[in-house]
This record gives sequence, structure tokens and C-alpha cells, in this order.
Amino acid sequence: MSTEKSKRLFEQAKQSIPGGVNSPVRAFKAVGGNPLFIARAEGPYIFDEDGNRYIELINSWGPMVLGHNHPEVKEAVIKAMEGGTSFGAPTAREVEIAELIASMVPSVEKVRMVNSGTEATMSAIRLARGYTGKEKFIKFEGNYHGHGDSFLISAGSGAITMGNPDSPGVTKGTARDTLLAPYNDLEKVKLLVEANKDEIAAMILEPVAGNMGCVLPEPGFLEGLRKICDEEGIVLIFDEVMTGFRLAPGGAQELLGVIPDMTTLGKIIGGGMPVGAYGGRKEIMDFVSPQGPVYQAGTLSGNPIAMAAGMAMLQHLKHHPAVYTRLKTIGETLVNGIHASLDRLGLPYTTNAIGSMYSLFFTERKVKDFGDAQTCDTTLFGRYFNAMLKQGIYLAPSQYESLFLSTALEQEHLDQLLDANETALRSL
Ligand code: PMP
Repeated sequence: MSTEKSKRLFEQAKQSIPGGVNSPVRAFKAVGGNPLFIARAEGPYIFDEDGNRYIELINSWGPMVLGHNHPEVKEAVIKAMEGGTSFGAPTAREVEIAELIASMVPSVEKVRMVNSGTEATMSAIRLARGYTGKEKFIKFEGNYHGHGDSFLISAGSGAITMGNPDSPGVTKGTARDTLLAPYNDLEKVKLLVEANKDEIAAMILEPVAGNMGCVLPEPGFLEGLRKICDEEGIVLIFDEVMTGFRLAPGGAQELLGVIPDMTTLGKIIGGGMPVGAYGGRKEIMDFVSPQGPVYQAGTLSGNPIAMAAGMAMLQHLKHHPAVYTRLKTIGETLVNGIHASLDRLGLPYTTNAIGSMYSLFFTERKVKDFGDAQTCDTTLFGRYFNAMLKQGIYLAPSQYESLFLSTALEQEHLDQLLDANETALRSL
């Protein structure tokens, strides 16, 4: 399969775009080789500029639970386009989508739309600080919450893939207010809270982590955090940018039965358009301007096209609960198949999975935190990634990302994925 056109585009892109890409992981730096330039996507497939077709498990880093270019979303966007692309003024659609989100996500009574997951988490932390009058917050190692300054400290996803989980440009003062705890380590959280008594505004975490590979909360971890936050007047924020509307209609909080004070959401509520949101208890959300004193704004927030796409996506998910049973079955089929291959080949690697998210880690260790994830053999992962790509399977180009499944995957695709997986593992 030729990828000459992608190669040429990458060389050209490097002249006018830093590193040739608009988001670092896309550059394939961690896996070697040349990034593919994508021309279009449909159902379970993406097509590159050279006309090659791939089954892909990135799904725009989460939101495409129904596969690419779903007809209901597409139709909603085309219809909305006829009425203009941006007004910077309130629309009926924003009211509708706010009510829909509140009806689906248990912790959300009120919600504010923004334009990305990054904006959602930045705004949520500012609000938690404004609401509590405290300045510090706890972040978990290997969790990624976008590229806001105060989150680029021991960050997962692209930050760790590029080998710089702490970024130059973040001031020492900013970094001092971000307290770090290992994921799944309740004792360390208790010690941090004790040592910073009455100074912690919030705790933010991915209730199921997807940015150090897929890492599940251990039984009791989320419940323990909830209890500490209740006792200490700390705002508990679940960053459900990846898990929201994917693990259940109400996200990880619904599936795992622990309800935070605030939730950050992203991508999926725009059906793939640039959208994020933060929401939570009325009492907290009413601190946001113009009702309250905490400022946050956006010309493109609640953009009519993005809201139309999001409404189509969320309405579909709300009215088709079978989507979640199907995603679970697809996930189980795939992960069971991967286990069977690992057993057949006598390989000791680890998998983590929940619903339609999974990771194959190239380590023998059980992966329950960032330290465990970092024991992975990333060179081996790179070889696995490229062996899969050669067989027409496009995985996330980093060991430190979860893979995302969609309802567009039929049995024939799963068979192809599992065949390719075994061939790739054998070739290592
Ligand atoms: N939070 C989480 C959990 C994420 O996974 C991401 C990005 N994948 C973000 C926040 C940032 O979202 P965005 O890239 O839309 O800014």
C-alpha cells in the first residue's frame, strides 16, 4: 500500500505548521514512520489521501460512538447550515441541548457550553476556585485534562507520548497550586488533603482514565474520593470528555454509581464538531457569569451547527439504549479474542477494558496507575502499531491512549481486527 501522497503532504506541512500537525500525537513520533493524511471517514473506516482504507479504533479520540459520518448527524448539520453558521446570540437549540444533557448526566443540573475539552476543564477549575474561595486542586498522575497551564503537570496523552508531561511555559506559581496524586491511591490523597487543610478547591480526575492507556478505578477509589470531598468541602470534578455518553448514557458516573459535583464533557456533545461543556450542581453553576461572579465567555460557544450535530448524536443515544449493550458486546468480543491470541502465543501482556474502551499494554504488570503504564515497552508497541497499520488497522499512535470502539463495527470487522492482531503479535 502506497502512502506517498501522505509523505509529501507531511513534508509540505512541516514548512507551515509546527511539526507538520495541529495536535502533537498525530505526528506518529512515538511509533515512527509517517502520519497518514486523512481524506474522509465513513462508518468504521477512514480513508487516507492515497486512497487506502483502514478500520480505525481512534474514532476522533472518542466521540464517534456510532461510527463516522452517521446519517442522522450529517443530516442535522446540513439542515442547520441553511440557517447560517454563527450568531453569537442565544438560540432555542442551546436550551434544548442543555435540557437533554441534564436529563442524561446524573450530576448535571445546569450546563455551560464551550468549544473544547480544554476550555471545559479550565473553566471548571476556575469555577471551583471561585465557588470555594480556595486555590489549590488535586490532579492525578497520567490523567490528561487538555492543555490548560495548570493541567500540564504529569499529564498523560500526547504530553507523555512526546516525553514532556511537564511543559515549559507553565510558571512555577501555577504549578505550585496543582497537587499531584497517583491514580487509585486513596491514602496519598488523604495525606495531600491533610497537608493542605482548607486550601483545596477541587479534585479533578478521569473516572475511567483513557490518557495513560485505559486504566480503571479500583473498587472503592471513586467512592473514597467522594467521601473525602464531602468531608472537606472540596468540589469533585469528573472529567468525562472521553467517557461521557460512551460508557453509559450518563457516562462513567452512571455506570459506576458515584456522582461528582461537576462534570466536564467534550467532543461527543458536538457529534464531532468542536464542542465542550461543563456542568454540575445548580448552586455551583450559578456562580458563573452573568448570574455569578466567575467570568467565562465565548463567541462561538453554543454554535448553531455544533449544537445541531450534538443534539442529533445525544438524542440518538438517549433513545437507543441498545447502543450500549452492543458496544459492550463488541468490546467483550474483541478483548476476549485478544486474550485468546496472547494465550496461544504465550505472551504475557496486559489488557484493561471497560465497555467500548480498551488498551493492550506491552508490560507484564497489572496497570492501575501511571507508574505501571510507564513500565510498558513502547518500542514493542511501535512495532505492533506498524504491523497493524500494514494490515489496514489504524490504532492510536501511542501506548498511552485508550482505543475506542463504535457500533459501526460488524462481525466481519472484528474478525479482521483479531486476525490482524494475532499476525502482528506473532511478528514481534
Ligand atoms: N479531558 C480529557 C479526559 C481528554 O481526553 C481530553 C482530550 N482528549 C481533554 C480533556 C481535552 O479536550 P480537547 O482536546 O477537546 O481540548
